[in-house]
Amino acid sequence: MATGRTAASKVAPRAYFASCPVRGRVCTTRFSHPSLYKPRSNVLAHMTAQEVSSQGEETVEFAHDLTVELEAAVKAVRLASHLCDNVQSQLRESEKMEKGDSSPVTVADYGAQVLTSWSLLRSLPGAEFKMIAEEDSDDLRAPEGAAMLRRITDLVNQTLSECEKDAALLTPEDVIELIDAGRSDGGKTGRHWVLDPIDGTRGFVSMRQYAVCLGLLVDGEIGLGVLGCPNLPQWSVSDVDCNDGGCDPYDERGIGCCFAAHTGRGAFAGPLFVEQDEMPSIRVNCNDLLAPEEVRFMESVEAKHSNHHLSAAVAEEIGLELPSLRIDSQAKYGVLSRGDSSIFMRFPPDNYREKIWDHVAGVAVLQEAGGVITDALGNKLDFSQGRFLPYLNGGLIAATPSMHRAIIDALDKIRHDIPFGQGYKDPSHN
Ligand code: AMP
Ligand code: MG
Repeated sequence: MATGRTAASKVAPRAYFASCPVRGRVCTTRFSHPSLYKPRSNVLAHMTAQEVSSQGEETVEFAHDLTVELEAAVKAVRLASHLCDNVQSQLRESEKMEKGDSSPVTVADYGAQVLTSWSLLRSLPGAEFKMIAEEDSDDLRAPEGAAMLRRITDLVNQTLSECEKDAALLTPEDVIELIDAGRSDGGKTGRHWVLDPIDGTRGFVSMRQYAVCLGLLVDGEIGLGVLGCPNLPQWSVSDVDCNDGGCDPYDERGIGCCFAAHTGRGAFAGPLFVEQDEMPSIRVNCNDLLAPEEVRFMESVEAKHSNHHLSAAVAEEIGLELPSLRIDSQAKYGVLSRGDSSIFMRFPPDNYREKIWDHVAGVAVLQEAGGVITDALGNKLDFSQGRFLPYLNGGLIAATPSMHRAIIDALDKIRHDIPFGQGYKDPSHN
């Protein structure tokens, strides 16, 4: 499958990962040219947990070998990302796009879910397939949904004919079935794919950041995660506003990043849009060596999704001086994992329930890059309780180990002065 950007693509042949100017051992995105990439099954596939640990990284005990599933996940995410990028290119070129018209994102959301299911099923024939995903087909089955279903089917078939030339075209019935492959309820046992077909829909329609996010849970624990970030620059965004010009799709330094992590075997990055199916092969690590005045923290662009006042108060308490980097979607986890930023704070409203598809893939990458994530009291996240995360205390803190400790301490100090949400209160949790 080739998922190089199509029309007028200036970036694919010259995709560089720029070096980032950090001191110490953790220069995460090393300078590299695509011709230096190892072809297809990359270092990751051949690296045992011990080899990874002999490189001086901490490892996590994980009994499962998900190499085949990880390759399948990268392939699926690339295909879905190609569909999303096609839609966004059309939006970019269309003067007619109405501000409030949400139908392009709806079509792309469903289409990305269809292609992810399709690709996983094709890559892993015979395997039991359960998926927890954001979309279902209820609206498309109604008579009013017929036109939308036709648009999704056309879009999916257009992408298949570009990227999977030998594939049979899909019917509307196939499309419904592939969307509904995502109806699993999750839980503590078995394997469950977890998909957000377009995370950051606001970013998608506004030409900012968004991500195709696919993870795999094994008995409730994260086994792998893949992030496709079509608009994320391949160089460090620590000093750029990647929502404003930083994501010019024709920037010759390369746009579009894929992050892939297998629990216990590390996190890797590479270009998203590639001519061959090579796996991301550049090892990434969080950067825990910066002094507070050098640290950039991240938060949502949307103030409705996260309390910007509280994150500013925390930043001040721990001595940060730089303004926040506001980025949509789980691209934030990728940016944190490659060391462009050291902190991601998320403080949603009190009554908001976090869905697991908004975090599984990103957390997989972050943890393998040496990062830490907990709720605002320092409790581990539990992805084994179904489609939602259970009770969260005030929000999520994802950071390098030292910054994470500093933030939990700071929250402990300021929570008495600054009221902040208690997170969603699970009714079953007294
Ligand atoms: P972000 O890109 O950080 O703004 O997060 C995007 C995700 O926030 C989306 O996938 C939504 O599922 C989720 N979201 C939607 N509404 C809210 C809300 N009121 N509070 C927090 N998160 C939300
Ligand atoms: Mg989402």
